[in-house]
Amino acid sequence: MRDKLRKRYQVHKEVTRNGSFEGNFTLSEMARLSELIGLDKSALHDRRITLGFEFVRNEFNLPMLTGQLETSLELECQRCLKALEFPMKLDFRLLIDASDEMVSDNSVDTLYSDDGYIDIVEVVEDELILAIPLVAMHEDTDCNENWQIDDHGSETAATENPFAVLQQLKTID
Ligand SMILES: [Zn+2]
Repeated sequence: MRDKLRKRYQVHKEVTRNGSFEGNFTLSEMARLSELIGLDKSALHDRRITLGFEFVRNEFNLPMLTGQLETSLELECQRCLKALEFPMKLDFRLLIDASDEMVSDNSVDTLYSDDGYIDIVEVVEDELILAIPLVAMHEDTDCNENWQIDDHGSETAATENPFAVLQQLKTID
């Protein structure tokens, strides 16, 4: 049985007891995330993330945090500028307070504790930010009728600026 989630963990203690946790919380505390995806923090209030993780030692006896998370975010489709529901399911494996040398040798990311403590909301927020695509688009490539695929097979907007169309309509009037 895994223990219930809380926000802060003492790394040394949890690694020693091989602490294992699960639960869920809302995304409303994630200010950096809400800014990145251009949503008000209140819009993240009813978004929940399901999370499970444990504190372990890897083969070199280094403390690690390993886990999985699952959530769904509303992003803006870069083709039609409408809302795009984006489900996310990630595994993470992070060394804790590893030296730069260790990180490059193991090709794993490290997370840095705050005086021996970690805040799981911050860890999860970082993981989500890294996993969000720079350019999100609907799977349906026809979601914007003004969008064209050029001769070279790459996609371009027929109108650079979506408001240019509106501008044209106005001048016709
Ligand atoms: Zn779209």
